[in-house]
Amino acid sequence: MALPIMMVHGGATRFQTRFHKDILNAVEKAARTGMCVFTKGGSSLDAVEAAVYVLEETNLFTAGRGASKNQDGEIELDAMIMDGNRLESGAVMAVQDIIHPISLARYVLERTSNYQIAGKGANRLYQKMIAEGYREEVDTKRTSVPSIAAGCDTVGAVAVDADGRMAAAASTSGWPGKLVGRVGDSPIIGAGVYANDVAAACCTGKGEQILRITMARMAVYHVEDGLTVEEAAERIMGELRQKTSGEAGIILADSRGNMTVRFDTTHMPTAILCSDSNVPYASMVPKWP
Ligand code: ASP
Repeated sequence: MALPIMMVHGGATRFQTRFHKDILNAVEKAARTGMCVFTKGGSSLDAVEAAVYVLEETNLFTAGRGASKNQDGEIELDAMIMDGNRLESGAVMAVQDIIHPISLARYVLERTSNYQIAGKGANRLYQKMIAEGYREEVDTKRTSVPSIAAGCDTVGAVAVDADGRMAAAASTSGWPGKLVGRVGDSPIIGAGVYANDVAAACCTGKGEQILRITMARMAVYHVEDGLTVEEAAERIMGELRQKTSGEAGIILADSRGNMTVRFDTTHMPTAILCSDSNVPYASMVPKWP
């Protein structure tokens, strides 16, 4: 596919049929927003942050405004963003009272010398981010629609710019009723998200399974080792099934613009845009080019 490329997903799970249209519209809008960032001269990091922000803003996914509650009835969010070229990342874990943890993760990457900030510290950093004007405050209103998905549905994105520089990002509230303080794969480098100068990956599914095989890092490693992105995704999905009996999904791209989507759940809404098409390739079910 012609660079730049924008890939967006809304989680590997099963979604109620009556929401499919809205969900596909949301992932398409997120992919377009990411692509728009490129046309305005933004980087792949800007593109993945913008795309994930769009998905956090809807209440269709268990992230951002649609987040689900933990055992105590509170919301704790995880997010991560990674710059493949710099091999640097920013992540926040179990952060409360915000809608867009992806922007806070970006702030961690750009404005601190740390990579992962949890809980109270992340909230403190959020106040600093707003005070500095790095990103604007948004209202934290959430609608309490019952979950549209069976389980959980992290959102994520992978972008490759015109020069082949990659970034990946994910955002989630994790599983409904999770233990207070539970952190899944999404904000853990190499588990839910990984990017370097060869490939970039974003995974979704049961975090406890994805963590066991450091799924995103291993998918990228398989590409470094000479597999095509299709072969690498197939291999890592097989490893997850075999070693953990988990179900999951992955979006994976390399620096030349080869990309793939794999999942073994019923649905994984995904939208893909490249520079030579104006219409996102979008689907809930497996039928990728
Ligand atoms: N991986 C996420 C988690 O376990 C959930 C998901 O991808 O749906 O927190």
